[in-house]
Amino acid sequence: MAVIDDEPCDVAIMGAGAAGALFAARLAWAGKRVVVLEAGKPWELTDLVSSQIWARRLQRGGAPVLPGGSHTIQAEMGISGDAAAEVCRPPGAPYPIEPLMSLKRAEVLKRGFDKLGIRVSPAPMAVNAVEYDGRSPCVYDAWCDAGCPIGARANPLVMHLPATRKAGATLTAHAVLAGAGATDAWVSTQRTFAHVSGGTVMGDDPATSVTDAFGRLHEAANVVAAGGGLFPSIGAVSLTFTVLALADRTAGDMVANWGSYAP
Ligand SMILES: Cc1cc2nc3c(=O)[nH]c(=O)nc-3n(C[C@H](O)[C@H](O)[C@H](O)COP(=O)(O)OP(=O)(O)OC[C@H]3O[C@@H](n4cnc5c(N)ncnc54)[C@H](O)[C@@H]3O)c2cc1C
Repeated sequence: MAVIDDEPCDVAIMGAGAAGALFAARLAWAGKRVVVLEAGKPWELTDLVSSQIWARRLQRGGAPVLPGGSHTIQAEMGISGDAAAEVCRPPGAPYPIEPLMSLKRAEVLKRGFDKLGIRVSPAPMAVNAVEYDGRSPCVYDAWCDAGCPIGARANPLVMHLPATRKAGATLTAHAVLAGAGATDAWVSTQRTFAHVSGGTVMGDDPATSVTDAFGRLHEAANVVAAGGGLFPSIGAVSLTFTVLALADRTAGDMVANWGSYAP
């Protein structure tokens, strides 16, 4: 467990989840002194065991299955999918990895859709169909909810946190307890929700929104909110890919216009 000291930093990030880890990586690469304070435990891939019983004990987080299309993010994550088969997909680069194998039940359902004349395409997944960027391919053991001990499923542990550490950022897990002098931390299992959105909604009008279009608080230029809180409502598909794309956009804007974020 890292110890919080009095060293000055340029950026303090609360939470090493999907968005926080991406911000940490981007800003540390840009040479900013970054401290990440994480309330949860310091997860390792070895903590993720493919078993449903174990999955129920996990306090979940991270970036699992992701549809959509930001080029930088999909190249970093390694999305498996078939862009040509998706009719509603915005124009852009194809997915970097071929789709995952279809399971039997998907083939059965596809037969039904085909009969009705409804076109289907493989769901884009942040799971490697083949080896990608040093990460093993999926072994189809189907315990994705428990995490992925081989790192085939993209999450902060295999995406941005290793790069963040390499770039010299300080990551403090169980931050509050560490600050209070704890040497070991036991956290009770919490009830979790999967696709939380709203709360720090983005918009142009401070009367009806909390942040601007970059997630910066209307009332505090040096405080940025990230994650699903920025969404005024939930979309038709899972949100994490957009969470990451927004974080990527804001981190880029912070680096380019640093003076306006740290007046
Ligand atoms: C069971 C489940 C299944 C999901 N499946 C999908 C899916 O299939 N597709 C998809 O796109 N998305 C899915 N999601 C959603 C996805 O996990 C979230 O969209 C994504 O993690 C949001 O990223 P975030 O950075 O905003 O928050 P998180 O990744 O949740 O990160 C927040 C971090 O902040 C830490 N934290 C909280 N409070 C504090 C504090 N006070 N101080 C310090 N640290 C703090 C937390 O411990 C956590 O590590 C799923 C979520 C769950 C729970």
